[in-house]
Amino acid sequence: MNASERKDLTSCECGYHPEKYNDNCDKYGNPVCSVTKALRNHVIFASFANLFDENDPSEYYYDLSGYMGKLRCNWVFLAEIDESFFFLRHRVHAHSRFGEKVPIHFYNESNEMPVSFTWQDLKKGHTLAILYAERKTFLDLSEGIRQEALETCYVFKTGLKNLEEEASKVLDLKDLNFKKSPEKCFSCGVEKESLLRCAKCKLAVYCSKECQVKSWQSVHKNLCSQMDVLLRLASLPRNRKFKKYLSFCPGQDFLSEYVYSERHVQKPLK
Ligand SMILES: [Zn+2]
Ligand SMILES: [Zn+2]
Ligand SMILES: [Zn+2]
Repeated sequence: MNASERKDLTSCECGYHPEKYNDNCDKYGNPVCSVTKALRNHVIFASFANLFDENDPSEYYYDLSGYMGKLRCNWVFLAEIDESFFFLRHRVHAHSRFGEKVPIHFYNESNEMPVSFTWQDLKKGHTLAILYAERKTFLDLSEGIRQEALETCYVFKTGLKNLEEEASKVLDLKDLNFKKSPEKCFSCGVEKESLLRCAKCKLAVYCSKECQVKSWQSVHKNLCSQMDVLLRLASLPRNRKFKKYLSFCPGQDFLSEYVYSERHVQKPLK
């Protein structure tokens, strides 16, 4: 990143800033963030600066034996795509919510096809989610992500801002259901005892047909089929399944154990 790109960087609500590395840590030295808002916790929904360098693995990311305190939670890098390229391999330029501009290069030497997204989904305005993303310094000394595993990648068909808004609505809904409180319309926010529920995702709720149509046209059309994945992703900070590796593989619970983890598991600890 050059200096002009850096000046727009923003902080996490907990005070963490990607350039100042003023991370709060627990007694084991693991970074912590107090923010529970959907997709806003900077440890789970990491800044690019907060990712580990692929050549410098930290043992609490990779150790699966689980000795006291040395296992970090799962982490995800979320970035909205600004540009998408294909020349020999798929690449995107994207930005994190902190304003970091990050080139992401897909290296899938076996030419496997992604299972949880399609290459056509990599387009401007969509948001890429990468579980266990690592920082890479390329040969020209620029920094970015060299992504090999495809089952840890997912593409949401909307931008970061919409994604955060929809994630917080769907998380609220789960909390309200738990407390048996009236639900809020996803479109206008009005509270009502009984709302219309989207027949497809069975998650989004609306006070009226008009609100449903409005939301469908502006954002829900693209996200309806992705709401379940979004809910699970947004729930990451709140559940305790931190010790498992995750993937976005369809057909299996993406909170189940990350099967394609050999590269990570067998990485020698320093
Ligand atoms: Zn934070
Ligand atoms: Zn409404
Ligand atoms: Zn829906």
